[in-house]
Amino acid sequence: MSQSPQSRQPHPLLPGQSPTALWQPSTPRPLVILGSTGSIGTQALDVVRSHPGYFRVVGLAAGGGRLDLLARQAVEFGVEVVGVTGADADQVEAALAAAAAAAGQASAPKVLTGPDSACEVAAWPLDDGVVLNGITGSIGLAPTLAALRAGRILALANKESLIVGGPLVTSIATPGQIVPVDSEHSALAQCLRAGRREEIRRLLLTASGGPFRGRRRRDLVGVSAAEALAHPTWRMGPVITVNSATLVNKALEVIEAHLLFDVPFDRIDVVVHPQSVVHSMVEFIDGSTVAHCSPPNMRLPIALALAWPHRLAEVIPPCDWRQATSWVFEPVDGETFPAIDIARRVGTVGHTAPAAFNAANEEAVSAFLAGRLDFLGIVDTVAEVVEEFLAAGVSPVRDLDDVLEAETVARRMARDVIARRAGSATP
Ligand code: MG
Repeated sequence: MSQSPQSRQPHPLLPGQSPTALWQPSTPRPLVILGSTGSIGTQALDVVRSHPGYFRVVGLAAGGGRLDLLARQAVEFGVEVVGVTGADADQVEAALAAAAAAAGQASAPKVLTGPDSACEVAAWPLDDGVVLNGITGSIGLAPTLAALRAGRILALANKESLIVGGPLVTSIATPGQIVPVDSEHSALAQCLRAGRREEIRRLLLTASGGPFRGRRRRDLVGVSAAEALAHPTWRMGPVITVNSATLVNKALEVIEAHLLFDVPFDRIDVVVHPQSVVHSMVEFIDGSTVAHCSPPNMRLPIALALAWPHRLAEVIPPCDWRQATSWVFEPVDGETFPAIDIARRVGTVGHTAPAAFNAANEEAVSAFLAGRLDFLGIVDTVAEVVEEFLAAGVSPVRDLDDVLEAETVARRMARDVIARRAGSATP
């Protein structure tokens, strides 16, 4: 007897037309990649390379620190436009010509240079395309706004632009227009598919704890930049790696989660999980907790964001459940790592406060990497700047200028604090 037609229907709770139909776009999805030579950008291009037929890279933008790499990328993917904020057009053209000659390929993308070039590339005409913002730091805000205003789906790895832009970004974005690339928020977005908004009790962001997990404040006196840059589970750029060591990265991610998912701060918690396999969890009202796990590899959230809401096949190898394995979860040591509590405070105040927090941290991290500030001085500086900034009063974020002004003030305050600390450390 053959099966009845009824029994071959997909289960009504499983979305999709057919249990076997995988996403295969009829034409490759156009992509623009901002920060293409950085950690996120290069991994995104790996995903594109390993999934032929799914994506077409139309535009690339980068700072220009790795011009040769940018040129090779532009030639390999045959892009229409290249934007470089930190080099002049002649340098870019020369790099493109050299890369084209080396590859034996013709390549003549339009070259845009100058501070606005990333924004121009972000708003480059795309038919149903995705803009991946993989720029590091709050300079990613203007391109984020440009992509949103142009109506693109924004795959957002540049969390700073959401944090410093706050309501400016969330008021422009239409529902679903921002797709998170940050691994924790990608995990949350996936866990949230398991229930309705009213059923959410808490978001639980996991944190690896960084290289200094388990140490107390007194143990962190005099730790070096090399130690702070040795992240146990993730390979990332230097700023985010230092931010992981101070837990400022997690602090920023708490604000990011609040802005992305509109869940109040008192219902967003952080759990330390050193294996970095559970990327975040959502607790529902019935006592269920839904977790997302995979080996730590940014290609996974990047691929999901580029293909959103679809999953690509074979992006990374899954967890190997044949191996005995244990996972550890522990609370955050808020005394040694106060950044998360400071972020909750500035996030709750809102307006320009998160921008000041972030700017003070960017200033402090660059001083630390340059050897002008000790490790504990990073968050101590941020804490001092936040106090001073809040005492002076926050203002609403109506446009980019409001953000830039708050950042300028906070950076100046941070430089003063750093100079004072350096002065007092001199015998
Ligand atoms: Mg993250």
